[in-house]
Amino acid sequence: GPLKQEDLRNLAELGQGNGGSVMKVEHIPTGIIMAKKIVLIDAKPSVRKQILREIHITHSCNSPFIVSSFGAYILDPNICICMEFMDKGSFDGIYKRIGAIPIDVVGMVAASVLEGLLYLYDVHKIIHRDIKPSNILLNSEGEIKLCDFGVSGELINSIANTFVGTSVYMSPERIQGAEYTVESDIWSLGITLIELAHGRFPFYIDDTDDEPSAQPNHDRERDIPDLLAPPLSPASRRRNRRRSKGVSLQGGSTELSILELLQQIVREPPPRLTSSEREEGKFPKTADDFVDACLIKEQQNRKPPAELLRYAWIEKTLDARVDMKMWAGSV
Ligand code: ATP
Ligand code: MG
Repeated sequence: GPLKQEDLRNLAELGQGNGGSVMKVEHIPTGIIMAKKIVLIDAKPSVRKQILREIHITHSCNSPFIVSSFGAYILDPNICICMEFMDKGSFDGIYKRIGAIPIDVVGMVAASVLEGLLYLYDVHKIIHRDIKPSNILLNSEGEIKLCDFGVSGELINSIANTFVGTSVYMSPERIQGAEYTVESDIWSLGITLIELAHGRFPFYIDDTDDEPSAQPNHDRERDIPDLLAPPLSPASRRRNRRRSKGVSLQGGSTELSILELLQQIVREPPPRLTSSEREEGKFPKTADDFVDACLIKEQQNRKPPAELLRYAWIEKTLDARVDMKMWAGSV
């Protein structure tokens, strides 16, 4: 039968994002442990029904690289989405706990994300739209799966104004207002891989000049939503403010506001896995080549998932048969 709120028992809070919160729950009739995401939406009842219909499409998603869905229901004014529980959590939590992720595991993340994107795009014509460490999950079987993909056009429309505009994983063309493509997801994957391999977000610093952008300025972060994604409710402003404090965009004495960061993504050369001479030899050259390919600034020159899956780094990583189950057991 359909999922019902009264059949679910809360066990623990798994995390909070800009869009809502995620609870670990037990489905009492079956004993199945699930992750329940609660999303506050601002939409008419007819639109909500449409969102639910679209979310039910995820039911038909069946891939080892995609978190499976148990269904969704409305709990006014929220939508609750129940999905497969991934007991090792997301990769942002993992690297914040243990530090930089070993490069062969990062290679497995790359391979799994590419497989997931390929599946979503080829089979369901869905673009993920939100690739980042918190949407890449691990379980103790060592499986790596994507969650929170953009199935619902209506859901995106009804929550987009509140936070989508400020993602620091956004590609240069998206920052400039172009439509999403599967190549936009590839850019976000490149940023994500650098973040995991280094154990911190790759910020953008230009040491060669003394622009005001080198000055810490937290207040200016508040201006970003107005510029990029008006209008905002007071609640989402609060969320954004809290969020921008949570993202640490500092390195040495230089801090960037999110707006300055987005401007840099558009203007400056892309970040690289091996970003200084000091890091030379730390990562295999094939990994550098792969990340460079993900972070080509012109969308039309970036490669789609199927081609990137044939890159040497991915093939070598898969040949090496990394014991992901053992690694998952250690984190
Ligand atoms: P944002 O709102 O900016 O997208 P986010 O992805 O961190 O950020 P949520 O999608 O609400 O926010 O997820 C919050 C946290 O819940 C995640 O960081 C992850 O650790 C955890 N989580 C989400 N889905 C699952 C799941 N299926 N199994 C286990 N943990 C999950
Ligand atoms: Mg998420």
